Amino acid sequence: MNKLTRRPCVAGNWKMQGSYSMIETLLGELHQQEQYLQGIDVILCPPFVYLERVAKMLQRQESTFLLGAQNTYCEEKGAYTGEVSAAMLKDVGCQYVIIGHSERRQLFAESDELIARKFRAAYHAGLTPILCLGETQAERVSGQTFAVIRRQLDSVLEVAELNCFNRAMIAYEPVWAIGTGLTATPEQANEVHTTLRGWIAESDPKIASGVRILYGGSVKASNAKELFCEPNVDGGLIGGASLEGQAFLSICHSATYDT
Ligand code: PEP
Repeated sequence: MNKLTRRPCVAGNWKMQGSYSMIETLLGELHQQEQYLQGIDVILCPPFVYLERVAKMLQRQESTFLLGAQNTYCEEKGAYTGEVSAAMLKDVGCQYVIIGHSERRQLFAESDELIARKFRAAYHAGLTPILCLGETQAERVSGQTFAVIRRQLDSVLEVAELNCFNRAMIAYEPVWAIGTGLTATPEQANEVHTTLRGWIAESDPKIASGVRILYGGSVKASNAKELFCEPNVDGGLIGGASLEGQAFLSICHSATYDT
């Protein structure tokens, strides 16, 4: 299986942004040009409280866009005030969930172990986890990029079967590129993606060649195409630019094979 057999994917991570009126405007704008986005999975990840609204609106529009959450908890149910389970996300229409975003790791002190348990819970509930991995600036400068990413991947593989990557996706997101305006060069991104695929191939070449690996970190309309053209970059996880209709549409279009 090569790049052309992996379906490109672009996911928009709205982070803690949005409102009912913003959803009306943004989804209206996206819907007008959705017909031009063929052969690609487009996932919208609004905050928890807006998931159901977005799900209903996508249904009303008969949209092919998919719904994802930005986080979940690792337990099925119980006394975990403020948390949301993967089954609840499924219940409101989610198919995807971002796991281990660097903002969760850094601002909310999520450990590799907790992230691995969240990944497993999401997978077993029937969601497709999008596992985020990435090094900080200091780690890159000190030559630890591959060791950090390997540790983050291995911690998931310790609690979840490799088979999960028949469905799950990976998002390589260098922390120094998220929301900073700095973007990894296409070569830097592809180098990490190729290495990740290679590690998985050591255990299962078939899973490795099928797993979709997205790049995230200041992807914009102006740099998306060159990143997505790389042989092991299968699309993107988009933060800031996913809130601007025209920019997001342009990024999605860059991931299709008819650009
Ligand atoms: C993200 O939040 O995953 C992200 C990549 O953000 P941005 O595109 O704004 O850098």
